[in-house]
Amino acid sequence: MKRVISEGIIYKLIKYSDDSAIAICFLRDFGKTKIFINKAFSKKRGVNKFFPAEIDFLRKDESDLHKLYGIKYDTSKGYFLENPQIFLRLNIVFNIIDLLYHDDEPDEILYKYILNINEKNMTKWTVYTINYILKIQGLLKNYDVCGECGCSLEEIVLVNGDFLCEKCSGKNPFLNKTRTEILNKVFLPEYKSVKISKEDEIYIVKFLTKYVQTIIGKEIKGVDLLEELI
Ligand SMILES: [Zn+2]
Repeated sequence: MKRVISEGIIYKLIKYSDDSAIAICFLRDFGKTKIFINKAFSKKRGVNKFFPAEIDFLRKDESDLHKLYGIKYDTSKGYFLENPQIFLRLNIVFNIIDLLYHDDEPDEILYKYILNINEKNMTKWTVYTINYILKIQGLLKNYDVCGECGCSLEEIVLVNGDFLCEKCSGKNPFLNKTRTEILNKVFLPEYKSVKISKEDEIYIVKFLTKYVQTIIGKEIKGVDLLEELI
């Protein structure tokens, strides 16, 4: 057992008894971590989701449920809580992290990206961050080649987790030319100057989450909610 402090974000709170809870966090130094919080709902403690903080806790060797000592929120990130547009995007990305990352699989780069979201970059942030996660988890595929005939793709049809052309699939594209181009630029220097409308973002996020759902067989929540608010 060791008392440690790490920067991190609580993304899920499960009520445990009247006043305690289990917080599922993504910590910069430890990755996905479960922490037991006594008096989580008291006015004094007031535990917040999606609010970056320094989390001080007892890390147990013999259990995967650790124990909280204290949380110090990073008040410079107050807009994480106040802006619903940011909140909803964090919710989707954390639902993906929850499904794809193992416990104790830290990813400092991802943590840094998460902290970078703001009102100006958020549509680009969602597309980039989800693609980064797919890359790290080995799920990234080429967006520019038909998975069946090998022709170059201008528009993508999604069929059972494969990216196909219209001819091979016999179906209408899920992503039009603009949206396919955005995906092809995501890891190129040009991405810096790309502009992504909220509508384009929603289509791309729906496409990526549908793809991931097919691969892992689990539902990713939060996408419909984002769509409703836009
Ligand atoms: Zn094809």
